[in-house]
Amino acid sequence: MAVRGGAYSGAGLGGCDDGLVIDLSAMHGVRVDPTMRTARVEGGCTWGDVDHASHAFGLATVSGIISTTGVGGLTTGGGHGHLTRQCGLNIDNLLEADLVLADGRFVTVSDPQYPDLFWAIRGGGGNFGVATSFLFQLHPVRLVNAGPTLWELEHSAAVLRWYRDFLTAAPESLNGFFASLSVPPGSPFPEHLHNRMMCGVVWCHNGPEQEARELLAAVHDAAETLPEASGSARTIRDGGLKGVNFRRYLQKGPVDDLPVTGTTGRVSSVQRRTQGTRRTNANHAAWSRMPEK
Ligand SMILES: Cc1cc2nc3c(=O)[nH]c(=O)nc-3n(C[C@H](O)[C@H](O)[C@H](O)COP(=O)(O)OP(=O)(O)OC[C@H]3O[C@@H](n4cnc5c(N)ncnc54)[C@H](O)[C@@H]3O)c2cc1C
Repeated sequence: MAVRGGAYSGAGLGGCDDGLVIDLSAMHGVRVDPTMRTARVEGGCTWGDVDHASHAFGLATVSGIISTTGVGGLTTGGGHGHLTRQCGLNIDNLLEADLVLADGRFVTVSDPQYPDLFWAIRGGGGNFGVATSFLFQLHPVRLVNAGPTLWELEHSAAVLRWYRDFLTAAPESLNGFFASLSVPPGSPFPEHLHNRMMCGVVWCHNGPEQEARELLAAVHDAAETLPEASGSARTIRDGGLKGVNFRRYLQKGPVDDLPVTGTTGRVSSVQRRTQGTRRTNANHAAWSRMPEK
């Protein structure tokens, strides 16, 4: 038997051969409580469903990078996204979940209720029950400044070194993940870059406009001055978390662990093997401060 949320598991965990699939995709309701700043999210929602509902209230939670990813698998797998530097992992923002257990019981798990089970579903994978709904903490998020800066793939090592140092010193309102990717053939990417293999950082800033301007200006400066990368950088400005979620995101082919240290040998191995999109985060910030539960 397999449980399916958004069906985005690369390993195919949302399906099985000769078995039963419990497909939750018809359960995609979201109820936002703007007073408590929470969202009750049904087990088959995608992150696009959640962003769509919470954005109307100027709120958001830590979701995945891509709007079509399922809430169920991402949450039970841990989960990180554009707001992770500021607001922690996705599971740091999970307040409770409704579960149907293997013996048919229905339970609500949270810190005070079934704490072991609550601990297990926050990163332990999808084998602890079927989550019919999740309750998430929301945060004030109105418009974000966001978009990718791209470089030629052979500059990965230099870009990674700069990225590691720059982001560590930057305020937590700025998130960025490094990616090596085949540039999707569509907006917001300029046409002459479509389908080219490149590396880059996808930024998302949630904070004062002036701070965003200063930070993105620093990104532009670095993009111009990075010796091996000059001239190849592009920064695209966008608004709202929904604008950040590239629907044409691709991922395929195996890859070794992606380094944050940017050592040349490992980076070139990534370059050789990258066919889709690979990413890494050097941006623990709020995430690393969250109390261990
Ligand atoms: C293009 C792409 C982008 C991604 N981006 C991110 C990202 O930004 N951040 C990140 O952290 N991860 C990301 N991931 C990884 C993603 O979180 C996992 O693939 C996750 O399993 C997808 O969840 P799903 O519900 O869509 O998967 P499914 O294939 O539906 O399910 C995967 C697993 O989750 C379990 N599951 C799903 N829903 C429930 C439920 N309601 N109750 C109990 N178990 C459930 C299933 O049993 C199964 O074991 C990405 C993956 C892809 C393919």
